[in-house]
Amino acid sequence: QCAIDPDSIVTDACTSYSDLERLNADLAPSLDDLTQKTDFFAYYRLNLYNKVCPFWNDESSMCGNRACAVETIEDESDIPLIWRAEELSKLEGARAKHPGLAQQRERPKDRPLQYQLGANVDESCVLEDDDECDQRDYCVPEDEGAAAKGDYVSLVNNTERYTGYSGLGAKQVWDAIYKENCFTPQPARHASLKPKPLQAAASLKNVFQEYGRQHVDNSDDQYPLDDECLEQRAFYRIVSGMHASISAHICWDYFNQTTGEWVRNLDCYKERLHQHPERVSNLYFNYAILTRAIAKLRRHLESYTFCSGDTAQDFQTKQKVLELADRAAAGPHTFDESVMFQDPSVMDLKDDFRSRFRNVSRLMDCVGCDKCRLWGKVQTAGYGAALKVLFEYDETKNGENPHLRRTELVALVNTLGRVSHSLDTIQKFRHAVNTGDMSV
Ligand code: FAD
Repeated sequence: QCAIDPDSIVTDACTSYSDLERLNADLAPSLDDLTQKTDFFAYYRLNLYNKVCPFWNDESSMCGNRACAVETIEDESDIPLIWRAEELSKLEGARAKHPGLAQQRERPKDRPLQYQLGANVDESCVLEDDDECDQRDYCVPEDEGAAAKGDYVSLVNNTERYTGYSGLGAKQVWDAIYKENCFTPQPARHASLKPKPLQAAASLKNVFQEYGRQHVDNSDDQYPLDDECLEQRAFYRIVSGMHASISAHICWDYFNQTTGEWVRNLDCYKERLHQHPERVSNLYFNYAILTRAIAKLRRHLESYTFCSGDTAQDFQTKQKVLELADRAAAGPHTFDESVMFQDPSVMDLKDDFRSRFRNVSRLMDCVGCDKCRLWGKVQTAGYGAALKVLFEYDETKNGENPHLRRTELVALVNTLGRVSHSLDTIQKFRHAVNTGDMSV
């Protein structure tokens, strides 16, 4: 068995792809059931509209704002309104309002979690304090900071697919995300993005200069340098794997603006994924990470209370999650997190890694398309939760591990659901390329 350690490139030769594909065939029905058919996992609470991009002045660069909309309309003026990128990006379905303050059950801040939760009140029932950000978090909590805690959005009604969001706005976000991978040697740590508006963001050119980019050019992927350590390469692989998964969904559910049909776009797959095996490898890497996190959570989930107010439904949801965790745990050992952050010389790196990943999650507020921002937030939160479980949890302990918020668990399962679906689509696309049978 070829274990996927963070240092290895997954290749067909070591059969890891097929190991993971077999595992995926086993987990997919369970994941589908959870994400599509349970209320707990089908809705996500987030602050989608009220946060501003903390890194640059988004009015100068965001798609979805006036400046970008002009470009979009110019590009798309020949097609009906309903097919335009702005329309495709919009959220669908009713949004449930977050319960008001009166309905929220406060928990005292100064007591450990296990004492705050009475017999009938468990973690998924408690609404988190606004500003409570655990230092062990790898992600900015979705309910962080804002007075309004956001709304519940249906993930089922808003599938991740082609939206037409592209151009400078999207490029700028991806660039900034990959820029977070530029770890600097000691002592000049934390030289990454600072969450403040850039003073000189009056034009896109300035923004790119600020990030050390020459200009907007879609050249090569920003690979980590050869001398970067295992943890830094893992960081890059997670981000690149997330990007690959988004690309897979764009190609799988692609809108042909000429015919007005939703299609499988094989050329899109070839260009974005097939011709870049390392991107595909990073996607499989992420699958390995996420399944390991779910398996590691098995014990924690046993005492987790699902809290929808409907006891029968909560019982079923719990059974389904436990089944997923059981299956993940029974599969191959997909990822060995114990090899990371072990070398004494890289101990500080963990803080750096964590704060950089938090920045990636903050960058989601710079995504100028509602649906993309929704899924960007879900997935960064999902990877953040997985990293927290991998690096901060001890699976032999119960009750002493860090708190896992409801939003984190929902994001983790949905992110695995997305990557699981990406693996499936890539297998189908790959089959089409290999056999010449284009009927995907
Ligand atoms: P991009 O995908 O924008 O890539 C830019 C550059 O990054 C490439 O030129 C390449 O050098 C590098 N790169 C590409 N893929 C990888 C990889 N896997 N690993 C490493 N480097 C890579 N669009 C939608 O239609 N639907 C969505 O749901 C959606 N969600 C998005 C979510 C986020 C967070 C962001 C930032 C963008 C999203 N987009 C979405 C836009 C989409 O990702 C692309 O930016 C857009 O389709 C334009 O694609 P592109 O071909 O210009 O290259």
